[in-house]
Amino acid sequence: MDIREYLFNAGLQKGDNIIVHSSLRALKRAFPGLTIDSFIKNLQETITPEGSLVFPAFTYCFKKRNGESEVFNREFSPSKTGSVSDYFRTLPGVVRTSSPTHSFAIWGSLCDFISYDNSPESPLGYGSVLDLLAKTPRSFVFMAGTDFTSFSLGHYIEVIANVPWKDFSPWSYLEVEESGISVDGVTRLKEIPGCSKQFIQFENYLINNKFIKQDVINNNKFSVTPVDFLITHGLRYFSENHEKLLCPYGSCKACDARRHYLESIKR
Ligand SMILES: [Zn+2]
Repeated sequence: MDIREYLFNAGLQKGDNIIVHSSLRALKRAFPGLTIDSFIKNLQETITPEGSLVFPAFTYCFKKRNGESEVFNREFSPSKTGSVSDYFRTLPGVVRTSSPTHSFAIWGSLCDFISYDNSPESPLGYGSVLDLLAKTPRSFVFMAGTDFTSFSLGHYIEVIANVPWKDFSPWSYLEVEESGISVDGVTRLKEIPGCSKQFIQFENYLINNKFIKQDVINNNKFSVTPVDFLITHGLRYFSENHEKLLCPYGSCKACDARRHYLESIKR
């Protein structure tokens, strides 16, 4: 099977809007000979410009208390969310949004509905590119050689499910302030996304209950799932099991900070 057949078998078609989380290494293992260029071309030819491709191109340029802030430049700052996203953001017709911490690179019809200067105070919540995807029919999350540890939509679901830590930043231990910093200045932030490692629990729940199908190709994980379906299940799962979304105690400073915050608000 080649990538085109995979996309076809996954049911993707003209006009679909896809947020892609990808691992180049896994893509090459699953589809020997595949290049970044041919991966993106196959996606574009499948969905056509009537649809959209969205890649997270996050840079995490937070303002830091110790003065060691990295300053976001929309044109030049490399994406820290994988080499495919970093390549994609430079292609003709691709628009990169302006969040210093969580920018997205977008190609296709969604560009008509969001501006390059999109930089909401809730970077993955209301008013974000994820919010737009959630409100656009025929939107999908494509895990291309990755699992839900890189499930950005999970941060949107945390906001709309109102998890108790949604407005608590767990990154103080990294000297991070609740602001992003770019060449255009400082942006105040709220609902700062935290650790995403345990979104894998949500993925396991979906797979174990046969709500989603994960394809394993040469030991690499692939899945294509409608955004509205993930939100419906996610709202319930996140509301009822939010403590499962924290890493085991002592293994992650960000999740421990959230746990301490939960204890402090219970008192
Ligand atoms: Zn964690």
